[in-house]
Parts: sequence; structure tokens; C-alpha cells
Amino acid sequence: MSSSSAQVSNRDNLLGMPRAALEAWFAEMGEKPFHGRQVMRWMHERGVDNFDQMTDISKSLRARLNERAAVTVPPVISDRTATDGTRKWLFDVGAGQAVETVYIPEPKRGTLCISSQVGCALDCSFCATGAQGFNRNLTTAEIIAQVFHAARTLHDPNATRRAVTNVVFMGMGEPLANYREVLPALNILQDDFGYALSRRRVTVSTSGLVPQIDKMAEQANVALAVSLHAPTDELRNELVPINHRHNIKTLLDACWRYAKNTGAQSITFEYTLLEGVNDSVEHATKLAALLRHRPAKVNLIPFNPFPGTRYTRSGDAAIKRFNDTLHRRGIRTMVRRTRGDDIDAACGQLAGQVADRPRVRLGSRQFTLVQEAS
Ligand code: SAH
Ligand code: SF4
Repeated sequence: MSSSSAQVSNRDNLLGMPRAALEAWFAEMGEKPFHGRQVMRWMHERGVDNFDQMTDISKSLRARLNERAAVTVPPVISDRTATDGTRKWLFDVGAGQAVETVYIPEPKRGTLCISSQVGCALDCSFCATGAQGFNRNLTTAEIIAQVFHAARTLHDPNATRRAVTNVVFMGMGEPLANYREVLPALNILQDDFGYALSRRRVTVSTSGLVPQIDKMAEQANVALAVSLHAPTDELRNELVPINHRHNIKTLLDACWRYAKNTGAQSITFEYTLLEGVNDSVEHATKLAALLRHRPAKVNLIPFNPFPGTRYTRSGDAAIKRFNDTLHRRGIRTMVRRTRGDDIDAACGQLAGQVADRPRVRLGSRQFTLVQEAS
């Protein structure tokens, strides 16, 4: 792990340390490694950021922790809840930059959508985050801090289940372009002493970085979502420029390898419907041909327009037609429903809206979620 991911001024931020690193950290101090597991429980299971409250740790060790370590979350700039219960936090990550985290409550699960980078370099033509360009990678601690903050804020002692049951890397940034910091975060999310989320409850969404998909198959075991958005290279080159480097065939081969090597039941293919661009019956037919008889399901996302974009959202009839075409060809699909409209719970939308900076509206990719499998 990079030192930047773990350091808060002179103190180490323990939030970003996976179990092995934290145990080693204690060992380096001449302390027993199992304290690493104790501290993880306090932080991730109970949402405690104050060492003095970690009562099964001796007073003398707590004093040492106060000197050397911290549990630090970036300052929260805004915290809003939509009428449908969707909640969004904006975190100040320094230098006038911010990232956002969105919580979507549903009866049976609570999904947290987290960011992995400040901005994104991949420049997909329909994405607000892409339009703002790349600023920097988040550290593991900053990635986990989003989950830590949401879990402790939403904690309800009377609830029968935890508030955050699923975590998706569908906020700002391309998680696999920040693989070095994202991998330890996946480890913490899945660790029994961390958030103890099963492999189906953690989803990494990527625009298609093939070498990292292969690496992830070896080093982690999470659900994979791939932003496909087009059934031909010609069109995908235009919408998702990383396709120039890893074309559809190379990408799909990596997906099938991923499913085989991790035992994942299926790969989710995200497909944002852009009116008159990628939403015809012909596009759907070609898409079905690519995915037929494969471990695949398709997530259709109505486009969320933002100022300055050249695209518009496909109409309901076109969405239905596209969905039906896939369905008839044996492809499993779901259509996402927009959530959090009234608070602009839009991944990528608010970065830059930090105090003292002009309010630049960067776009409105409203947060959407899976409504129903059809
Ligand atoms: N960088 C990753 C994860 C973040 S984006 C990726 O691209 O997969 C999460 C999803 O939202 C992606 O499928 C992305 O293509 C989609 N998306 C981006 N902009 C959108 C918009 N304006 N409307 C609807 N979906 C959008
Ligand atoms: Fe980056 Fe994903 Fe947006 Fe493409 S869709 S610019 S990869 S965040």
C-alpha cells in the first residue's frame, strides 16, 4: 500500500489497511498482531473511530494508538436525502475537489454506490464524470471511508439487517484504473473482520480494462459489471474510447475467463440507452448475438442527460422494444429505474462544488438502480 493511502499527517489512517497490513502494523510496533483484528471490528463492524472507545484494548496501547494512528474520514460537505430515501454524501478530498457516495435503500437490501477516483480519464462520451477529466486516484482509506461513514451514519440498532448490504463501484471514476488502491478495499469489504460482504454483494463496474479484469480474477472474487453500451467496435470506439485499446472481442473473452476462473454465475453488461445512437432493434439483435449462451445479463440504463451533452434519453417505447428484443433472444435483462431525482443523486455531478469555488454543474448522471428483472 502506498504511504499516502495510510497516512494522516504523521499518523497512520487505519481505515485503509486490510487485515494482514494492520496485523503487520501492530507487529512492527512490538505489539501482538491480533490487535489488528480487534481494531478492524471496532471500525468496520461497530463504526467506532475513537481509540478510547475500544474498550477491549489496554489503556496503554490505546495511548500509543492515539499518538500514532487515526481513523479518518474526509470532511462531509453535504448530506442530502431524497423523498424516495436515496441519500447522498459529498466528501471533500482536498484541493477543491469532492467525491460523492450514494445510498439506495430497498426493502431487502441497501446498496452503497462508491467512488474510486476524483474524475475519470477515460472520457466516455455520454458520461459527466468523463467530461470533467481526471484529477487523482482515491486512496484505499478514502474508498473505505465512504463505506465506514455510510454504515455508521445509517446504523439502526433496532433494524434486523445492516443498512449497507451491497457495495457497488459505480460512483465517480474507473475502479480498475486505480487497481492498486481498489484491491485492498475489496479485501476489507469482504473480510470477516471488515464488512463481511459476500462476493455477490460487492460489484466492480469497469469500462473494460482487460489486463486488470484478468488480475482481479486471480486476486479478488467479486461480481463484475462491464460497461458495454454498444454491440459493434465502430460504435463502441465512439462511446467508450478505451475500446480502441481493448476491443469488444478481447473484452468479452476476458469476461468469460473471469466467470470461469471466479465461478461467477454471470457478468452484468451495462448498456446506457441513447436515443437514435445505440437503441435500435438492430443494435439489440447484435447485442443478443454477442451474449447468447454466455453467462451474461444485461442492465439497461436510461441515459441521464447533463448540460452540454449531445445525447438524449431513449423513450419508454424504445427501451421496451430493446428490452423485448433481448428477452426474446434468451438474454436476461433488467431496466434500471432512476432514484434520488430531487437531490440530483448523480454520480459525477457534484465534483467541484466545494465551498469557495464557482458552482459548476458538471452534469446529471442521475443515480439509477436495478428495479426489476424481466
Ligand atoms: N467507470 C466505471 C464505473 C462508473 S460509471 C464504468 O464505466 O463502468 C457506472 C455506470 O454508469 C457505467 O455503466 C456508466 O457507463 C454509466 N453511465 C455513465 N454516464 C451515464 C449517464 N449519463 N447516464 C446513464 N448512465 C451513465
Ligand atoms: Fe469513466 Fe466510467 Fe464515466 Fe467512462 S463511464 S468516463 S469509465 S466513470
